[in-house]
Amino acid sequence: MISLDKILEGVRSVGICGHVKPDGDAFGSCMGLYLFLKTYYASVQAKVYLEDNYSESFQFVACSDEIIHDYPVQDPHDLFFVLDCSDPMRLGNALQYFHAAARTVVIDHHISNQGFGMINEIQPDASSTSELITLMIGRERITRQIAEPLYMGIAHDTGVFQYSCTSSRTMMTGGWLIDTGIDFSRICDETFFLKSYHQNQILGRALTESILMMDGKLIFAAIRRKDMDFYQVQPKDLDGIVQQLRITRGVECAVFLYETGPGEFKVSLRSNGSVNVAGIAVYFQGGGHVRAAGCTMCGSVHDVVNNIAAQVEKQLEKKKNPDPEEAKSTEKTDSCGTEY
Ligand code: 5GP
Ligand code: MN
Repeated sequence: MISLDKILEGVRSVGICGHVKPDGDAFGSCMGLYLFLKTYYASVQAKVYLEDNYSESFQFVACSDEIIHDYPVQDPHDLFFVLDCSDPMRLGNALQYFHAAARTVVIDHHISNQGFGMINEIQPDASSTSELITLMIGRERITRQIAEPLYMGIAHDTGVFQYSCTSSRTMMTGGWLIDTGIDFSRICDETFFLKSYHQNQILGRALTESILMMDGKLIFAAIRRKDMDFYQVQPKDLDGIVQQLRITRGVECAVFLYETGPGEFKVSLRSNGSVNVAGIAVYFQGGGHVRAAGCTMCGSVHDVVNNIAAQVEKQLEKKKNPDPEEAKSTEKTDSCGTEY
C-alpha cells in the first residue's frame, strides 16, 4: 500500500477530488484525507473540490464548509489526489486540476479503474475508498473528526456493513473509527437511512410501477423528469431505489433509470451475484463494481431496458453453458468475495 507520508514529502500544495455527484464514499474519503492533512500537515496548503450536488446530511462533517464547488482557475497543485473515481471523465470540472498537477495519485476500489494516475492504489477487494484512506492514515493518527467522514464512507458503500464487499478488514477499520468515540449509529441514521417524505413517495412510485422481466430475474423501474418535478426531488434523492428493487425475491439483476435529458437516462445496476453488472456498465461506456454499477444511455425506456436485458440474458446463458476457459476466470472473480 502506498505511504501517504512518502508521497507528501516536500509537497506544498495538495488538491483532493472525488467523482461527480459525490456519494457517501467519495465525500467521506475526500474529507477524511483533507482533515488528516489539516491535522498533521498544517504547512501543506490543501484544497478539496467536490460538486455541490451531494446530500445535505453530509454537512455534519467538520470543515465541509471549506469544500470548493466552483472550480476557479488557479496555480497547479504539487500533488493531486483523485479518490473513489474510476475514470478521468468522472472528474467533471476538476479534470483541469488533474491535468495541471505535477503529480497525481489515484486511490480507488472500482474494478473498472485502470489506474490512470502517476501513482495508483486500486484495490477492487476493498469495500470502499474510505477503508483504504483509513488504512493509509493508520489507527494511531485517526482522530474523531477524521473518523466521522471515513465511517460514513465505509457504511454507505457496504450498505452499513452488509454487502458482500464487507471483509474482516472492513470491520477492523470500522472498529478503529468507532474507537475514536464517533456517534456511529447517528451517522448511519442521519446520512444513510433517513429519507424525506418526498423521497419515500417517489420510492413508492418507482416500486409500484416496477416491472419484472425474464421470469422474474430482472426488475426495472424508471422515473421521468416530470415525476421528479412533481415530487420535487433531485437525482441525489433517488439513491436507494435500486437497492430496494434488488431485494425482490427471485431477482438476479435490478435496473433503475432516471431521465437526465430528452431521451437520456442515468442507469443504476445492481446484482445479487449471478450477473456481473460492472461488465454490462462498461459495455455501455460506464463502470463500477461487479454487484453495483452504472452508466448513461440514450433511447426510450424500452430501448434501454431491452439492451441491458440482452446483456443480462447473455451472462445468465453463459453461466448455464459455460465456456470452459471463461469459467476458470469467472471462478477467480467469484472467490475474491468482494464484488460490490
Ligand atoms: P450508482 O448506481 O449508485 O450511481 O453507482 C453504482 C456504482 O457504479 C458506483 O460505484 C459508481 O461510481 C459507478 N458508476 C455509476 N455510474 C457510472 C458511470 O457512468 N461511469 C462509471 N465509470 N461508473 C459509474
Ligand atoms: Mn466507493
